[in-house]
Amino acid sequence: MKEWKNVWILAEVAQDKISPTAYELLTAGRSLADALGEKLCAVLLGHDVKKFAQDLLDHGADAVYVCDDVSLQHYVDDVYAKTLNGMIQAYKPNKFLLPATNLGRSLSAKTAIFAGTGLTADATEVMINPSDGQMHATRPTFGGNLMATITCARTRPEMCSLRPMSYPKAACVPGKKGEVIEFAFDAEKYTSLAKFLQFIKSEGEGLDLSETDVIVAGGRGLGKAEGFDLLYKLAERLGGAVAASRAPVDNGWIEYRRQIGLTGRTIKPKLYIACGISGQIQHMAGCSGADVIVAINKDPNAPIMKMAHYAVEGDLYEVIPAILETLEK
Ligand SMILES: Cc1cc2nc3c(=O)[nH]c(=O)nc-3n(C[C@H](O)[C@H](O)[C@H](O)COP(=O)(O)OP(=O)(O)OC[C@H]3O[C@@H](n4cnc5c(N)ncnc54)[C@H](O)[C@@H]3O)c2cc1C
Repeated sequence: MKEWKNVWILAEVAQDKISPTAYELLTAGRSLADALGEKLCAVLLGHDVKKFAQDLLDHGADAVYVCDDVSLQHYVDDVYAKTLNGMIQAYKPNKFLLPATNLGRSLSAKTAIFAGTGLTADATEVMINPSDGQMHATRPTFGGNLMATITCARTRPEMCSLRPMSYPKAACVPGKKGEVIEFAFDAEKYTSLAKFLQFIKSEGEGLDLSETDVIVAGGRGLGKAEGFDLLYKLAERLGGAVAASRAPVDNGWIEYRRQIGLTGRTIKPKLYIACGISGQIQHMAGCSGADVIVAINKDPNAPIMKMAHYAVEGDLYEVIPAILETLEK
């Protein structure tokens, strides 16, 4: 066990940009590295990605491991997982954090299998147990009703995928010095049964709820898909975006990528307006980090009316037009 040292984070690169989750993982990783008295290292995988190493040093990494090869230009999960495992076996990290994004969820599971180690998936908090140096990764379980703390006692690295928005982004201090270690891609070893054919952007891509300050969300209380038209009007007037609870997504009124909650997105906007949403724990798991929550609900006893900073009792089909009218004035 003593051979395994340092805390690694995976810096995901998407569309030739470092994903914001990398900076969140640097914050979480820094707290682990400081508690252990070890180094914080970032990992870059892809093609033409070495150029991002200095940015990761500027955001707090002590060192950056890079595997930069044209074979990694497109994400193919077994190639990436085998490469990552090659790096793990070569450098033996103690803890390894990956983002619980679509890519990170798939890659972390496959890599943990290749590395023969344990993974806590979709955690929201990580810390070091001072008595034995083990990582305690906490994640919601039983539909969000309980928080489970999971450890990986017998194998290394202890791996964890962390939900986006669980930690603030690390601050940037330009010009920080650190080592950049290059790892050679081995085309004979890092093979795949799959073949990359084409990247197809999903329609409406570009919607990034995590970067939006104002979110207007609708629930089952809208009663119909067309109810969202009113929410789009309010969101547009406030310069925000539209989201939903799970009920309208299950009903097919709106796309899944707008779902907020335990099995949807976690967001931290400045203002969250929940319209016709009751505020079940699985929904609140995704939005309780908002600076201000406004609930519009007919039922004064709905759970969200107690959790919101401002609870507006009334029919959303009367309250929202009244808000729009006031905004027009
Ligand atoms: C494992 C698991 C994971 C889950 N993950 C998620 C998740 O990620 N996200 C999520 O949202 N849910 C999730 N759920 C479902 C969750 O438990 C709730 O069922 C869901 O959030 C309810 O959605 P809602 O609040 O829109 O509907 P409801 O609970 O039916 O609430 C509708 C509300 O609208 C109000 N209303 C009705 N008409 C009007 C009107 N005209 N004007 C104003 N108010 C009105 C009602 O008073 C009521 O409070 C999950 C559940 C499980 C078991």
